[in-house]
Amino acid sequence: MHRRIQIHPRSLFAEAMTRLRGRDQLLITAGDELPLVVASYPRGSYSFAISLQSALASTFRSIGPALRETYRGVFQGAPSLVVVILRARNRCTCLGHHHLTGTESRLARRLSADTGRHVGEIDLAVEAIRQWQPLPLSSLAVASADGTNHTAQAELEHWRFHAALLTVFLHEMEHLTFPERPEPEVRLRSNQFYRGALQQFAAQEFGVAFGI
Ligand SMILES: [Zn+2]
Ligand SMILES: [Zn+2]
Repeated sequence: MHRRIQIHPRSLFAEAMTRLRGRDQLLITAGDELPLVVASYPRGSYSFAISLQSALASTFRSIGPALRETYRGVFQGAPSLVVVILRARNRCTCLGHHHLTGTESRLARRLSADTGRHVGEIDLAVEAIRQWQPLPLSSLAVASADGTNHTAQAELEHWRFHAALLTVFLHEMEHLTFPERPEPEVRLRSNQFYRGALQQFAAQEFGVAFGI
């Protein structure tokens, strides 16, 4: 997913520091529908891995079967093991990428050699995704809280972030599984998924229709 903003030198510094500090891994098993995921996160940023785990294991399962069904073909064709490189932001400002065969990290190559399985790889920019606001939420916030209910607002924001993380994960998984599919097709599916997930959450939690 591409988005152009100016690159700040501080993000280059943060990236260099991350390289020096190294990375840790968390194995995420989120049920039969989803592939096995090895999350690789910067040492000290365990919350990135926990957020992804929550998005895959909890948010995904809370979404209705009809909406989950739209990604069934992707999961059927996807590698059974996927490395997800987590970082705060990407230098190019993208929310995520899929990594073409032959460009995977050493971690993915080693896992592939050790398990004898095809290992796919994507990356996700966690903080950029947290700030990503593709759909306006103001109408929902007002409808749910008459402007004062901060608990509902915080709960909504928490859920929206995990739904967004899940959506970008699914978007990149589709690119990884079907590299020949054009961006507009892949993006349409992920946009519809995100919109549907938010509508469902709003209806369940607040009993309001999310008019978009
Ligand atoms: Zn894309
Ligand atoms: Zn990029």
